[in-house]
Amino acid sequence: MSFEIQRTCAEGSGARRGLLAGRVHTPALLSQTHAGAPPFLLPAGVAALPGLDGLCVSFSDMYPYAKAIAACNGEEEKKGGGGGGGLASFTAQADHALFVSCRDPGYVPVKANEVGGICVDGARGRKVVPAAEYARVLAAMRPAFAMAPADELPQEGFGKKRCRTAVDRTVEWLDALLAEQTAVAEAAPPPRNPPVPVFGVVLGGLEPRLRAQSAAETAKRGVAGFVLAGFGLGESTAVRASLLAEVLPLLPPASPRLLMGVGAPADVVALVAGGIDALAAAYPLTLMQQGYASTFDIPGVDRKAAVAAAAEEEKGASRRAKRPRLHGGGGGGSGGDEEQEELTLGVAPGATAAGDGDGGDPIVDASAAARHGKIQLRDRRWKRDRRPLLPGCGCDTCRCYSRAYVTHLLNCNEMLASTLLYAHNLHHYLLFFEQMRKHIDAGQFASFANHFGVELQSPPAQQAAEEEEG
Ligand SMILES: [Zn+2]
Repeated sequence: MSFEIQRTCAEGSGARRGLLAGRVHTPALLSQTHAGAPPFLLPAGVAALPGLDGLCVSFSDMYPYAKAIAACNGEEEKKGGGGGGGLASFTAQADHALFVSCRDPGYVPVKANEVGGICVDGARGRKVVPAAEYARVLAAMRPAFAMAPADELPQEGFGKKRCRTAVDRTVEWLDALLAEQTAVAEAAPPPRNPPVPVFGVVLGGLEPRLRAQSAAETAKRGVAGFVLAGFGLGESTAVRASLLAEVLPLLPPASPRLLMGVGAPADVVALVAGGIDALAAAYPLTLMQQGYASTFDIPGVDRKAAVAAAAEEEKGASRRAKRPRLHGGGGGGSGGDEEQEELTLGVAPGATAAGDGDGGDPIVDASAAARHGKIQLRDRRWKRDRRPLLPGCGCDTCRCYSRAYVTHLLNCNEMLASTLLYAHNLHHYLLFFEQMRKHIDAGQFASFANHFGVELQSPPAQQAAEEEEG
């Protein structure tokens, strides 16, 4: 599998731009899926998203369908091959690079794995999947790249000894997986499919020594990249940064590094500044599940022009509505005109121009709350607010629906609310990644990072080189 580093950050950080597997532009979001597809969205909605190159598919979601997935390969080979088949055919996701992960990035790992392999929960209960079987199923799935099986643990509820066992087991499983891949490749009749590129897993909880041991052992194996696992489980940003500073210099610099489970924008920027190339994060979905619309400001995304154009249009509509009517007008009881005026201006009764509470309108409110903002759409204060979820946003939801209507859908538990809200949150989050890439390209990553309160620091390897030069 290829990974091409196209640009490194010249402003004293480890941030870099690259191309993974020939089609994933990094720093990238590998967007979460449920049962192999982006949740809540129809194909047209997925196609409308900006810069969605890769999807993260959970092994356990698809394992029960391994035979059906393998059957797709048989059909493909009858047609003459051509590299299709597998998971991409089964899930109809050929437009995206698929990354198979050992767990869903939205779930906290449970301490359930056994000596023999990872535990996979399915309709028929829990099953232990040994590394060799994992390798055979991966061969049938044919994803663009995959995470090796890992004995990932929650951050509490076990001792250091168990944590050490997890590191040792994960390395053993990686060896077994790679050995099985070689055996499968040798046994297959030509033309042979190349083995699925595997990312080794670096874990070790909050123990720097174990993390370093895990990184060093994994780096000795012939892996295509690395997954930094066991993060996003409640550790502080500072603890995460110090563990990564310990581990990243031990990995080959030209290999891609993927981190699972962390998604808040400021945390993502800090990780990218530290040299992380891709994230498998549940952030947009988690916000949606809690009823939030994402509204943080993204440097480089100018929504002001779109907002001004919409305001002009609204003013025109307002003037037309105010023209005296020659023949009186039916309908509209007392107070109706007043309500119309408020609705036309698009400001919720009782709300300030800057919005209020969590987030506000970032166009007006440049506070830290707005920069990292989100608005709670279950709140009934939006129930007469005709503005889009985020004024100036170009997503399908914001172009067609108001906060008031999405609030109504949410409070009625109507499924469309999840679709509309998730489409907005994912669109907004993908723009954030797109702008991060553009700012690295333009040599302006420092200002992008500062916007999110992240000060750039030279990565440890670079610091050491600078000190030697000095
Ligand atoms: Zn939107």
